[in-house]
Amino acid sequence: MKRLKYLRDGRAPIPKNETVSRVMSANRGKNTVPEIKLRKSLWEAGLRGYRTHVSTLRGKPDIVFASKKIAVFMNGCFWHRCPFCRQKLPKTNSAFWQAKFKRNVARDKRNVTFLRRNGWRIAVIRECRLKKNPQRAIEKIYRLYSRQSPEI
Ligand SMILES: [Zn+2]
Repeated sequence: MKRLKYLRDGRAPIPKNETVSRVMSANRGKNTVPEIKLRKSLWEAGLRGYRTHVSTLRGKPDIVFASKKIAVFMNGCFWHRCPFCRQKLPKTNSAFWQAKFKRNVARDKRNVTFLRRNGWRIAVIRECRLKKNPQRAIEKIYRLYSRQSPEI
């Protein structure tokens, strides 16, 4: 029964082992553990009044302070090909994954560029950076938050 969930939606090859599968599934979800931690820290830092997973905005940012036009992306290292920790490619179907990751990274860039052009300020928080130094991630958002909104 448990294996059935690895079949998912058929868009990706079925992972050959459970560890890869678990990593992939975990990276797809909303409300991941690092994300919950980040939101908790934002709350404690007094940064409130945000919405999460805003699907009306390009790229569906994880955290959005609409009145301040701040969008925060919490990027999982695996899917977004984090430059800091260089996650390994899956050993099987590597051509597929390489192409997919290339598209993911290109899409991330396009989304950020689009939002910036529309007056949004963006913070990209990498999963591994957040784990290593959560305070720094908060400060990054705090700096945007406390700055005056740019004239548009
Ligand atoms: Zn990373």
